[in-house]
Order: sequence, then C-alpha cells, then structure tokens
Amino acid sequence: MNAIKSPYDLAIIGAGIGGLALGTILSARGKRVLILEKNPWVGGRVTSYERDGFQIDLGAHVISRSDKGPLGEILRLAGKDKQITFQYVRPLTSFRGKTFAFPRGLQELIPDADFQDLTRMLQAMTSLSDAETHELDSLDLRSYTQRFTRNPLSVSCINNICMVYLCLPYFEASAGEFIRCLKWEAGARASGYPEGGCRAISEALARFIREKGGRILTTAPAAKIIVRDHAVRGLESPGAFFPTQLIISNADPYHTVIELIGREYFPDDYLNKIQSLSFSYSMLNLRLALREPVAAWKLLTHIGSDNPELYEENIRAGEVPEDVSIFCPVPSNFSPAVAPPGKQLLTAGAIIPFDTPNLEKWQEAIMNTLDRLIPGYRDKLLWVEKTTPADINQAVGERGAIIGAGQSTGQVGSHRLPSETPIQGLYLCGSEAGGSGVGMEMAIKSAQDLAEKICK
Ligand SMILES: Cc1cc2nc3c(=O)[nH]c(=O)nc-3n(C[C@H](O)[C@H](O)[C@H](O)COP(=O)(O)OP(=O)(O)OC[C@H]3O[C@@H](n4cnc5c(N)ncnc54)[C@H](O)[C@@H]3O)c2cc1C
Repeated sequence: MNAIKSPYDLAIIGAGIGGLALGTILSARGKRVLILEKNPWVGGRVTSYERDGFQIDLGAHVISRSDKGPLGEILRLAGKDKQITFQYVRPLTSFRGKTFAFPRGLQELIPDADFQDLTRMLQAMTSLSDAETHELDSLDLRSYTQRFTRNPLSVSCINNICMVYLCLPYFEASAGEFIRCLKWEAGARASGYPEGGCRAISEALARFIREKGGRILTTAPAAKIIVRDHAVRGLESPGAFFPTQLIISNADPYHTVIELIGREYFPDDYLNKIQSLSFSYSMLNLRLALREPVAAWKLLTHIGSDNPELYEENIRAGEVPEDVSIFCPVPSNFSPAVAPPGKQLLTAGAIIPFDTPNLEKWQEAIMNTLDRLIPGYRDKLLWVEKTTPADINQAVGERGAIIGAGQSTGQVGSHRLPSETPIQGLYLCGSEAGGSGVGMEMAIKSAQDLAEKICK
C-alpha cells in the first residue's frame, strides 16, 4: 500500500452534489481538498449520460430556485454562473382530463368556498417566518392541511406537491419542512433546468475544485476510515492510504459509520439513530425518445387519484394503479441541446417505495397514462429507457432514495441527523445530514452550513 504524505487539508468521501458543494466552498477559502468517489462519474445522483444523441439525467431534475437559491450561490462562488444558465418553468398539473396551473386553475374545478379555504391555507403558509415553520416540524402535512380544507382535489394537489418536493406522501411528511420549501420557491419563482442538462452543474463544480489545486479521484471508493483515540487519522482506498485528521462523508451515514468505521467506535444512541434513518421514496423513471415533439409543456405533474390515502394503501399492497400519478418534465423543452435536432426527450416518473413489485406492469401503466395525456405519442416513439429503484440503489445506495433521508416528521429541523458525529474530525454532509429544502438544494444547504462550522 502506498502511504501518500498528504498535501491535502481534508478528505471528502463522495462527489455527489453535497460533496462537490462543500469542496467548492472550502477550495474558495484556500483549503486543499481531496475527494474520493466510488463511481466513474462526479455528481452522484446529479449526472447525465448519452444515448443516440439524447442526454439523459440519472434523476429527473427540476431545480427549486435554480440560480436564485443555494445552487446559484455555489455557482457564483465558483465563478461558473455565466456558464450555466437556467430555463425557468411554471409547472402544470393534470387530473381527469383537465390541465391547470396550481392554485389559480383550481378555481374552475372546486366550489368557491373550498377555493377560499385553499387560498387561506397558502397565505398562512407563505406568511410564516422560517423560525415559525420549525414549530410545525413535528406535525404531518395532512394534519396541517386538514385545519383548512378537506376538499379532495385541494388535498390531492397538496399531496402531489409534497411528492414532488419531499418524495413522501403528505401523511408522513413534515408540515414545517414542506412549508419552508413552498415559501422559498414561491418567493424566488425560479424553478428551472440547466442548459445542457444536469451533468453540466456537477462538472463545473469539479472543474473549479481542480483549478484550485484540489484532487478528485473517480473509481476510487473509500474502503476504511482509520480512527484512533476517538479521532480521525486517515482514509484507506484500495491500494492507497491518505493521512488526514478531517474527513467529511457525503456517502450514506449507515455506510460511513457501520461499514467504513465500525460499530465499536460509536455510542448506542448514535448507532440507533443511524440504523433507524428512513429514506424518501424512490422512482420508476421512463425516458422516452421521440422522433418529433409530442408534448408542449416543460413540466407537468399528473394526479392519478383524489384519494391519496387509498392510492398509497393500494400501492403498498402491491397493486398497480390504472391511472398513475406521474412527474413529467420534458428536458428538451427546457434545453433543446439534450435531444438531437427536431426530436424530443420526454420523461415520466412514478414516485414509489423502494420495494414496489410488478415494475413491468408499472411501466405499462405509466405508458397507458401517457396515452390519455398525449394521444398518439407511441407512433412517434423511438425507444423507452427505464431507471428502476434498484438501478438508483446500485448507483448511489440508500434504498434508491430520490432525496436521501426522508423529510418526515421525526427527521427534520432539530430532529435531523446532524453533520457532527461522535468521532473528532468526522462530519457528514449531503441530503442525509443537516440541510433543508427540495432535493438538490437541501444537499447544498447542508454543505453550506457545515462549511461555516468547519471554518469557524
Ligand atoms: C430519480 C431522481 C430524481 C430526482 N429529481 C430531483 C429533482 O427534480 N430536483 C431536485 O432538486 N432533486 C432531485 N433529485 C434528488 C437529488 O438528486 C438528491 O437529493 C441529491 O443529488 C443528493 O445529493 P447528495 O450529495 O446528498 O448525495 P449523492 O448524490 O448520493 O452523492 C453521494 C456520493 O457518494 C458516493 N459514495 C458513496 N459511498 C462511497 C465510498 N465508499 N467511497 C467513495 N464515494 C462514495 C456515491 O457514489 C455518490 O456519488 C432526484 C434524485 C433522483 C434519484
């Protein structure tokens, strides 16, 4: 084994967006950063690959607040903001043949009094301060919603937004966390998608870290974190040892604590917390390559049922719904460069638990749902590629979670796993520890908060 005398101030395990954001901040502050990434690519879930001239994202990314949120702050810090431009979107919702913009479009679809109730609820949500939202961290979103309305379609729209933001049903999600996401996004009105696809973001940050003298090794899994006297001493990767007293893991906390270090180094209450972490839902995601455009929208979410409880109960019992709730961005309507000229890339994802059975039937049900949204699209279809929960799990672990640790009532705010660990010099960063917000922005916020602590 080569013992490398470390020219680095710290090591980061994982080049997901959380690890890259932290590497960017610390590089900008003059630290020399080493990042080990097990996969051959950087970005973790935020990556893209090519097929027949189509550029396909591993995830289905519409980025909350885009350049006006934490991601914009990181890109500006790296001086890459001019290279990555965003196309914004006002999403559409569809339900039983009607397509509308939430909330205004609901006025035509529900009784006046119910629409007033919904408006009152949205006003109440957006008027809360960040501090006040934390008082609702332990309340589930369904209970909060029912204080204002029980109209089935209003409630289903809230559940639908919750599935998109937090990838959990509204009866499990934290009301406080949901409200923060909603009010931040409503304030910025800048949900969007980057020109050139999501890979452009991760690669730009990796470039900056390297320009600043940092080193990012891919296909380089961290195999062991060496701990002595309750403090970090170094990091082993196959064939190499990196001495360091500061390690930040962007990887799954269970993997970091139990597999890279070992139970014997941690107190029981910490181990219990790590072992009982629950993750967000996963996704069965179809990418449809089309020989010509069939969908005019940039982002549409389709609500399959106005009874979210029954819909979830049936899914958990192994049933495949006839009308599937789908998250349906059209990346090439944001950025034409992600499809060959004249062609369209459409995606349709069902947000489902990791161990959902009958995925072949689910695929057909998603495609049948699309038949009703876009009659005749199959005539223009070149091919369909699917990413299953098992594929996501194989790439990044965490039971194929879309987000990471779920933003449920017991796992947000002061109950969220902190970045600090019982081992001196070991921290966690990304969408499993600390942070708040929608998907990618939570991982970046976790990195921003941790950087302040490390650099204090
Ligand atoms: C299908 C899908 C759709 C999504 N849609 C959206 C969306 O529309 N909008 C949005 O904002 N977010 C979306 N997300 C969520 C978002 O992508 C994630 O929340 C975010 O990217 C998580 O970043 P992270 O850095 O915490 O973790 P990760 O991306 O998981 O990064 C962790 C990294 O650690 C590496 N690693 C693990 N173990 C080791 C080891 N031993 N050694 C070295 N490296 C290791 C992994 O390979 C990985 O690269 C989506 C995700 C998926 C999967």
